[in-house]
Amino acid sequence: MVEVVRVNTQGALAIVVIDSPPVNAMSQEMRRGLLDAFNTLRSDASIKAVLVHCAGRTFISGADLREFDTGVGEPGYHQVFGVIEAFDKPVIAALHGTAMGAGVEIALACHYRCASPEAKLGLPEVTLGIIPGAGGTQRLPRMIGAKAAAEMILNAAPIAAPKAREMGIVDEIIDGDLLAGATAYAERLIASGAKPRPTASKTVDATGFDDAFVKSALQDAAKKWRGQQAPSWVLDAIRVSLQLPVAEGIKREREISLAAEQSLESRALRHLFFAEREVARIPGLSPDVKAKEIDSVAIVGAGTMGRGIAICCADAGIDVQLIDMSQEAAVKALDAIGKTYDSSVSKGRLNVADKAQRMARIQVGSNIAAVANVALVIEAAFESMEVKKDLFGKFDKLCRRDAILATNTSTLNVDAIAAMTSRPEQVVGLHFFSPANVMRLLEIVRGEKTSPTTLATAVAVGKRLRKVGVVAGVCYGFIGNRMMLEGYVREADQLLLEGATPEQIDRVMLKFGMAMGPCTMNDMAGNDVALKSREVPGVRDGKPRPYHEVIDTLARMNRLGQKTGSGFYRYEPGDRTTHHDPATDAVIEALAKELGIQRRQISDEEIEVRCIYPLINEGAKILEEGIAYRSGDIDTIWTTGYGFPRFRGGPMFYADSLGLKAVHERIAALHATHGHYWKPAALLTELAKTNGKFADYKPPIK
Ligand code: NAD
Repeated sequence: MVEVVRVNTQGALAIVVIDSPPVNAMSQEMRRGLLDAFNTLRSDASIKAVLVHCAGRTFISGADLREFDTGVGEPGYHQVFGVIEAFDKPVIAALHGTAMGAGVEIALACHYRCASPEAKLGLPEVTLGIIPGAGGTQRLPRMIGAKAAAEMILNAAPIAAPKAREMGIVDEIIDGDLLAGATAYAERLIASGAKPRPTASKTVDATGFDDAFVKSALQDAAKKWRGQQAPSWVLDAIRVSLQLPVAEGIKREREISLAAEQSLESRALRHLFFAEREVARIPGLSPDVKAKEIDSVAIVGAGTMGRGIAICCADAGIDVQLIDMSQEAAVKALDAIGKTYDSSVSKGRLNVADKAQRMARIQVGSNIAAVANVALVIEAAFESMEVKKDLFGKFDKLCRRDAILATNTSTLNVDAIAAMTSRPEQVVGLHFFSPANVMRLLEIVRGEKTSPTTLATAVAVGKRLRKVGVVAGVCYGFIGNRMMLEGYVREADQLLLEGATPEQIDRVMLKFGMAMGPCTMNDMAGNDVALKSREVPGVRDGKPRPYHEVIDTLARMNRLGQKTGSGFYRYEPGDRTTHHDPATDAVIEALAKELGIQRRQISDEEIEVRCIYPLINEGAKILEEGIAYRSGDIDTIWTTGYGFPRFRGGPMFYADSLGLKAVHERIAALHATHGHYWKPAALLTELAKTNGKFADYKPPIK
């Protein structure tokens, strides 16, 4: 077995090699190895300097996150980093790949740092609701000043090595072979008589880290890290670096860091971190099932979604045939795609050559026969069963025998679409979200007959397109839209009838942490879209009135939202700002009267519970029906696709954190007063009784 830490000597230079595949995460074993290595080297008089280098594709990529749950074992980070910093000979870190979190913190404890030009350095702790807790908040300010340190930590995005050099974190960029270059650099340091240069002995430059800066940093953080406490903890810890020497500052940092780790926010964010990785594990799918190679895609329907999907494919290096009903529509789509790329170029995210290369991958046309030679067809035509059935019948005749046929439908029955082909095992739903080239979520809809190979291929396509692909079973709206339409939006509509206003509901939901309130969201999506989905035969079965009364009435009045200048709100031309509309009040009041609903003042607390708890109840039904594989999949969908606050961990984690007994009680009480739609899900009732959690539930998979 390869040792996690080994030492090679080369003349007067000791090279401490860290080798812990796949990404050199810092484990207890690694810390122990490092401590042993430095303790041994200390007494070796022939050694004049130590180089810390990682084998494999990256320098230390962060802490071993498993230690969050088990607690950090001995020796701790501070002990090891303290020994390195206090070492009596120069210690040089050689960085490559992505040095993140503890990777950067150990580098800060070393005396010199060199890096490959393509190396990246980042302190992403805020994304997990914590602070850099291994000396990062005390050493980084000493190295680059308190203000720059705060900006880097609050931004959380990795920076490239050349930039890190400009900032004063990295001393030397090494072109070519890193180990050879770093060795030469270390030997130069030895030859020049360079001394240890502990970061701890520096004083912090406080320039610019004043009240005004802290205030504006917190304002920016409130937008970037909605609802999170971690940014203010980071600033507290950095303030400590200005007041205390490193040894004491680190103790204070440790206290703040432990409090952060135990916070609900951090537990929620860590849950999502793992849940987003877990989605790719498909229960029952044997590892022997191999995904098919997808090197060419045809997209049928070049509207909003088709264009976005085409961009995703071209970005991933896949050739695309984009087909619409007329050449004119197809050319218009290509033009719009060009404009989207232009906007990326003007923002500096893409260079002109890359744009040209990506555009060259997209061929547009109006001849459906172009689907004949591709490995995957993605249908993104109108949301109409007739249109989709007609298209899938054509695909079946035209496509390669081994081609996978996917639909981007939002609500329609994938099994009914698959039934139009002679190969339903090769049909799958690939439900992208708008804008498809931006949104990370992809719902992969597994039909009754979808084969394991097709499912594995869909998952692989999702990965290739850099999406978070979550598998869902077939039902109206799958996981995300079903919860949104049947739970959240339906109950918001009911609240309007009972006396709430669109402004009040949207305000309460924003305060809860949703990216957007439901009424604004409906107006943005178009109030006709959901109405159309409810007009499909069968959808309204077993759904007594009141059921989406306000939105459907607005849609029938052609108050479709932003696109018609009025919906729940009124809009000025070319402006998305919402304005109160008395005409909406009149619609709501008339409907309430017709339905015999007594209007009243509704508290913000009631609005919050009545919008969020139906999500939990519908999510519980989705779990018990086996539509989702696990509650973390539902949480991933809601936080990546529907603007549910990440710091609450998704609706199912949120319910677990409230305690299912309490959630059940409230839902049962609402069932008693409001009937039908509030009937507690059987799974919720069961888990409430047994003190269980959604997180531990394993649904039956059909
Ligand atoms: P859209 O109206 O913008 O575009 C549909 C395009 O398909 C149009 O350009 C139309 O000309 C073309 N089309 C229709 N029938 C066709 C046919 N027989 N052959 C070739 N082209 C045809 O619609 P959209 O918003 O892009 O939605 C497309 C699909 O994606 C729908 O099923 C929709 O439910 C789903 N979807 C939409 C969203 C969204 O937010 N817009 C999100 C997820 C999924």
